[in-house]
Amino acid sequence: MASNALARHACGAVLGSGKIEVLYPRMRVPASFIVDDSTCLVNMGRFCMPQFADVWPDRASYKKPWKTWPAEIPDSFVREFGQWCGEQGVKGKYSIIPYPACVGWLDRELPGWSHKDLLRSLRLVRELMVPNWDIHPEMISHTRVIDVNTGRPMAEAKPANMENWFPQTAMSADQLANYLAYALRILKNCDLPCEGITTPGGFGGRVKSELSLLPAAKQPHSARFLKPASWYQVPGCENQIRAYSVSIYPRERVWCSGDDVVL
Ligand SMILES: [Zn+2]
Repeated sequence: MASNALARHACGAVLGSGKIEVLYPRMRVPASFIVDDSTCLVNMGRFCMPQFADVWPDRASYKKPWKTWPAEIPDSFVREFGQWCGEQGVKGKYSIIPYPACVGWLDRELPGWSHKDLLRSLRLVRELMVPNWDIHPEMISHTRVIDVNTGRPMAEAKPANMENWFPQTAMSADQLANYLAYALRILKNCDLPCEGITTPGGFGGRVKSELSLLPAAKQPHSARFLKPASWYQVPGCENQIRAYSVSIYPRERVWCSGDDVVL
């Protein structure tokens, strides 16, 4: 490692020594924390499980005793986690699912919790998480596909009507953008600025090319609700890392701001 710090180029190359060495920013291995499946108050695991089991009744992984699980991820847990991360300088992406498992709408009501509980939980995200975390919708419900014309979940329990396997047929970039915009609009109503989107499970797996058009901010439906920034596709770990974060769950893709690009 070069001893003369001034010899270091801003991008990390060491100059003047006859060789070039790529250095990490601040001489540290860059890492970001990607939190998927988070939202306000609702324990997604408990409420997702029976909906996935309806679609895949034979899958052992959906036969867990979800009725015994707590309904809530308490704000006290989020506060402790967020404060610890703040003290340690941990940053990353934090999903807020806008209509978590169809339990309730974060910009309206969350049955099972008072309206005050909901507002308090949203305020905690705004005040504690937003400064250090990119907020993403993880589509609308992370369970049932929503008819964006009516706001109602699709009727039949089948893979085609679950966001994790949606869509099963061709879909234009505009149609996809319309779906994403629906999710983004709810978070905008909650005063949560969004830096990108996270795809739930295999969402968009069959229309990757259309989906990859969206972060280019050419889709006015979705771009309107995103903060102006450069957008980079981060398809799990399969391609080169272009933005500062990469999903630890390869099936879920994360698009995020390029503000902190490290590679
Ligand atoms: Zn997820």
